[in-house]
Amino acid sequence: MNDCIFCKIVNGEIPSHKVYEDDYVYAFLDITPATKGHTLVIPKKHCEDVFSLDEQLAGKIFESIPKIANAINNVFNPIGLNIVNNNQKPYQVVFHYHIHLIPRYEGDGFEITSKPKTFSNEEMENVRDMIIEGIKKLT
Ligand code: 5GP
Ligand code: ZN
Repeated sequence: MNDCIFCKIVNGEIPSHKVYEDDYVYAFLDITPATKGHTLVIPKKHCEDVFSLDEQLAGKIFESIPKIANAINNVFNPIGLNIVNNNQKPYQVVFHYHIHLIPRYEGDGFEITSKPKTFSNEEMENVRDMIIEGIKKLT
């Protein structure tokens, strides 16, 4: 895609700190890392977000994740590692599908917060049924 910054990174038009690539996947350091070793894993083929992600390509992307995550884990010895994928505004800023690998360190200041909600069992069953119906409509 012409205007896509991550396509330009894959094509070498914009420099990046590449850590891994294969036929389908390109991985490089985030330019504003949340922690040391914060890495982005992207498909070489342009794809906007999870909603337009081809299932085969998703397989190829996720195939590379344990390898890269284990490398980060072994070399930096973090206390944990978060995998984050933002989809759509305002959460997604770059509209070329990407997975964040964020190694975690004591006191690193990175936060993923939520306010847990309470649903009755009836509501949970309703939510479950809606998603099941949604999946049926796709297949
Ligand atoms: P998101 O779309 O998931 O909110 O985040 C996009 C991420 O891409 C940000 O963490 C940002 O730092 C990173 N990013 C944006 N532009 C560039 C770039 O040109 N090079 C690199 N290496 N990372 C970038
Ligand atoms: Zn792109």
